[in-house]
Amino acid sequence: MLMPKKVSIIEVGPRDGLQNEKNIIGLDDKVTYIKLLSEAGLREIEATSFVRAEKIPQMSDGIELYKKLLLEPSLKQTTLYSLVPNDVGLENALEAGVKDIAIFTATSNTFNKKNINATIDESLKRIDLVMKKANAEGMKARAYISTVFGCPYEGETSLVELKKIATHLKNLGIKEISLGDTIGVANPLQVKEVINYLSNDFSLDFFAMHFHDTKGMAVANTLAALQMGLSRFDSSSGGLGGCPYAIGASGNVATEDLVTLFSSMGIDCGVDMKKLAAASSFILKKLNKTSQSKSLTAYLSQTSQN
Ligand code: MG
Repeated sequence: MLMPKKVSIIEVGPRDGLQNEKNIIGLDDKVTYIKLLSEAGLREIEATSFVRAEKIPQMSDGIELYKKLLLEPSLKQTTLYSLVPNDVGLENALEAGVKDIAIFTATSNTFNKKNINATIDESLKRIDLVMKKANAEGMKARAYISTVFGCPYEGETSLVELKKIATHLKNLGIKEISLGDTIGVANPLQVKEVINYLSNDFSLDFFAMHFHDTKGMAVANTLAALQMGLSRFDSSSGGLGGCPYAIGASGNVATEDLVTLFSSMGIDCGVDMKKLAAASSFILKKLNKTSQSKSLTAYLSQTSQN
């Protein structure tokens, strides 16, 4: 068994989780949420994105938020990623003092066209521009590749295309690729097949997994990736972030579900469940929402009985 003894969670709640929430969270509450996540032991947090304000109003305070986060002594040891879609976004990231960026594309042309109005090749040209400047500025970048396990428009997607994109991104100096199950259709055997396919050309520590729990498969898929030796996983506190392709369904796997999976098997992820639950409860209350995470729900009901 290749199962790692220690894993890392990349917390995406403040960006991926909040971005589609209509209820706009104030700047100070975002800072508090991110500090609570960091205090829970999450040392890599995706804090915001630099997209057009009219497109995603929740992220319109990206520059201001990031500047505030940089002033927080308790966040000095925390890597704070910002999503950058293009060279305009990169200019904003530079203005905000960002050192760690995330960029994105997908293995489906149709998905990319609908999501960012670019084909795969066009999106890679945008990324070329971003990375040229980012590398010159000494920034570090991770990349999301969406629709790796299936596309809402095209169905099955190509592993050959995935390899082509991953190779392109690696050659640009990207440090890590996060493989996204954008619509939550992956199954554990497919996860193993995809990872096995990539292992022919890449070192597996180049990849993180980004599972969605739309059909309740994310924990099983995480275990499959663990068994292949992967040790880096994206998740969202409380499971924040719905699935735009299945209204009412859950999106990102909940950080609590991953923490429960890891800790129950003796795998160290460095996260304190009590503090994590406090962070999730804080933001859920602001959003006037309840969590779909079974682990968080069970944890909160147990603690309220004691
Ligand atoms: Mg996601």
